Amino acid sequence: MKFRSTRNIAPAASLSEAICAGQAADGGLFMPETLPAEAVQGAEAASDLASFAAGFLAPFFEGDVLEESLASICTEAFDFPLAEIGLEDGLSVLELFHGPTGAFKDFGARFLMACLDRLGDPAAPFTVLAATSGDTGGAVGCAAEGRSALRAVILYPDGRVSPFQAHQLSCWDTPVTTLKVNADFDSCQKLVKSAFSDRNLTRRHRLTSANSINIARLLPQAAYLAFTTVRHQAQTGETPGLIIPSGNLGHGVAALIARACGAPIRTVVLATNANATLHDWARSGLYMPRPSVVTIANAMDVGTPSNFERLEAGHLDVSGLIVERVDDDAIRNRIKADHARFGYTWCPHSACGAEAYARLCQARLGRNWLIAATAHPYKFADIVEPVIGEAIKPPATLSAVLDRPMRAEDCDADLAALTAYLDL
Ligand SMILES: *Cc1c(COP(=O)(O)O)cnc(C)c1O
Repeated sequence: MKFRSTRNIAPAASLSEAICAGQAADGGLFMPETLPAEAVQGAEAASDLASFAAGFLAPFFEGDVLEESLASICTEAFDFPLAEIGLEDGLSVLELFHGPTGAFKDFGARFLMACLDRLGDPAAPFTVLAATSGDTGGAVGCAAEGRSALRAVILYPDGRVSPFQAHQLSCWDTPVTTLKVNADFDSCQKLVKSAFSDRNLTRRHRLTSANSINIARLLPQAAYLAFTTVRHQAQTGETPGLIIPSGNLGHGVAALIARACGAPIRTVVLATNANATLHDWARSGLYMPRPSVVTIANAMDVGTPSNFERLEAGHLDVSGLIVERVDDDAIRNRIKADHARFGYTWCPHSACGAEAYARLCQARLGRNWLIAATAHPYKFADIVEPVIGEAIKPPATLSAVLDRPMRAEDCDADLAALTAYLDL
């Protein structure tokens, strides 16, 4: 299998070339050359997620140096459960937050790190550089821990993330370094960008990024969405619709990839927060990226969805795609209403999905729906607890994070300071 740039100028790449490069040389994003409609059939008999994923992803790994390692990559990446919980007739929650850092980002981060570790060289390891205020940094740090052919350097804006976020960004062991940067998030991102545009530095440390444009983050997401929908269909005889809380659109594109590869997925609904870019595009056909606005579902505060190009490039069938935009008041009301009605507690992102479900028209409601719950509500306790008037208990995975010592280093927001850390 080859991977082509959405812009079609850069030459086609192998899977591992696409993984190491992250982005294509022409600025586009890598997409599989074909989306094999029979991928699901090759995996259907598997009973657990890791072996399903190994079957489902086999066509994408065919002919690559990683082909022989696919099964072990899947065993490492899919080493925690995924739960489907029925809320009412026709509605289930797909809980994707049972991994070690409590958000679905664990799937993509663990898969990507497992790939990079096999592609790297302990004598000249990759350096995964990630600026983050949200779930990605913690997931990457955790997934990088103990690996020998890569190291991870995580930057976050000091004093500008919640105490829990600070903890989960700072508690990972070798080869992870966490830098708390004396600046805001935009400056952290600028700093990372300036590191990547320094060719010498990039080459010397084999710098690579872990953001959601990397194809190795989308593939495992497509795999678990295919696994759950196949299982759902086998158990209920129904082809479910999927509701996906969306920001940078990695998860949404993964759902469309899964559907193209034969997963029984009917409609895909993208639920966004108040950031209107996708919603306006769905209504008008015009894509108008803009600066993001701050919301209480902050992992989806995106005005320029970085995976949009994959949606538009024409490889994916976007027919029937629905976009719902949910503002902060509606998020709070939905958390409150569903806590009262089902005794179920959403995180603010998952609540966008629940609100999109509540807005479905009558004709659609007669069918089965799965709402992807992307983070454990404990991670956003400061927002959710006042709304439901109750304390949220941390699950064992997140208590374990809090039990770890923190070890972040102070760093100034300039390239010389970052370079000094990288060269250590
Ligand atoms: C990253 C994230 C999202 C958005 O996912 P995309 O792939 O960027 O659309 C939603 N919810 C949570 C909790 C996240 O961390």
